[in-house]
Amino acid sequence: QRMMEIRKLHCQPMTMKLTYYKSPVFIHQGHMQWLWNTDGKRYLDFFAGVATVSVGHCHPKVTAVAVAQMKRLWHTTCIYVTPPLQEYCEKLASLLPDPLKVVYLTNSGSEANDLAMLMARLHTGNHDMISLRGSYHGGSPQTMALTSNSAFKYPVANGGCTATMCPDVFRGPWGGSHCRDSPVQTIRTCDCPQGQCMANDKYIGQLDETFATSLPSRVAGFFAEPIQGMGGAVQYPKDYLKQAYQRVRERGGVCIADEVQTGFGRTGSHFWGFQGHEVMPDIVTMAKGIAGGFPMGALVTTPEIAAAFSKGAHFNTYGGNPMACSIASSVLDVIKEDGTQQNSLVVGTYLLTELAKLRDKHEIIGDVRGKGLQNPGWRWWRQVSRTPLSPAAMNDIFEDTKDMGVLIGKGGVYGQNFRVQPPMCVTKDDADYFLAVFDRSIQNYMD
Ligand code: PMP
Repeated sequence: QRMMEIRKLHCQPMTMKLTYYKSPVFIHQGHMQWLWNTDGKRYLDFFAGVATVSVGHCHPKVTAVAVAQMKRLWHTTCIYVTPPLQEYCEKLASLLPDPLKVVYLTNSGSEANDLAMLMARLHTGNHDMISLRGSYHGGSPQTMALTSNSAFKYPVANGGCTATMCPDVFRGPWGGSHCRDSPVQTIRTCDCPQGQCMANDKYIGQLDETFATSLPSRVAGFFAEPIQGMGGAVQYPKDYLKQAYQRVRERGGVCIADEVQTGFGRTGSHFWGFQGHEVMPDIVTMAKGIAGGFPMGALVTTPEIAAAFSKGAHFNTYGGNPMACSIASSVLDVIKEDGTQQNSLVVGTYLLTELAKLRDKHEIIGDVRGKGLQNPGWRWWRQVSRTPLSPAAMNDIFEDTKDMGVLIGKGGVYGQNFRVQPPMCVTKDDADYFLAVFDRSIQNYMD
């Protein structure tokens, strides 16, 4: 009891972690797709520390590299070059198409996106930013303004929210297909296959409207996640990004692909999410899966954009830290050696198929979507009327799943989605285990 109190006390500032479950889950140890709590209870991790543990908890090869580096060198700041820094930048650049070859290392996704905003402004000489409805781009004041979901914003003294700190951010249309995204929409108007929805004209039209009504003729940057993560695994209609990029460039802006969730093979079919849209971003930002859980982020851009940026001095104490770089480098090796991206495709596709069967079985499941292991289990809950399930009902299923030993996530603009983004080393057997537990939790709720 005393231990519990002490832990609660120390966790107090971390309100989100405390409220995620009815009672906090204390994780003590991890190995690949498995986690253990302080009482020795084992969980199958189907959330990967919010889509971050890419190759598995404490992957033996990555751990060995980390331990060796820890004995050698921890820190220098970015004023010196270290072998892990040099090696990592070369490796990362080789995974991106020309001309995306200049790497900046940061400590998080928010920081990478902040940097992208600054770069876009310096390079274009313009000021305005566009992000999409449903997007999430970070928790720093600037990226919180880019982020559309108000659940991630805080009220401030003037009665507004943090978005008002950056009045030069504009919100583009949702980008998602009309049949899946609005919980207030009670009639399902379209049964198109995933990503093939023909609502493109509608959303591109709305983007044009954003340009016409809100923005001056020029723009600095356009941010889009290749598949929206926190927003609910929202996939854009075919060619939406292609056409959006073209419009942004016509107005002098640069296009930023936020690969924080979709990068490093998570979508299975491609190493980077943007490749699935056949577009070429000017700036790519990344974090999460980059170092399997070690704090790190990165931005990769073209020499031309980097040149405009290098006129000032950009200092970052920890960016390019040798520990982070050696771990990230080892993560890339493991992705290659273990066939992680291929596994993401195989297990993710299997999960999507099997979850679709669960959707057909349970009336309350509205939708199953995603790609590879990028949220194959996001779902929009509905009852017979196709209205979303109440947060309390969502929580019942969520808690039950946890009590039966499987950790998943919650999300979506209206909190109506379950998120399944496991470490990419999961097997079909793990998927079956998760599916059985999930099925049971839904059944328990229905009973
Ligand atoms: N972009 C996306 C798409 C994200 O999902 C996140 C984190 N959820 C971020 C940016 C911010 O990354 P970080 O939490 O590392 O700052």
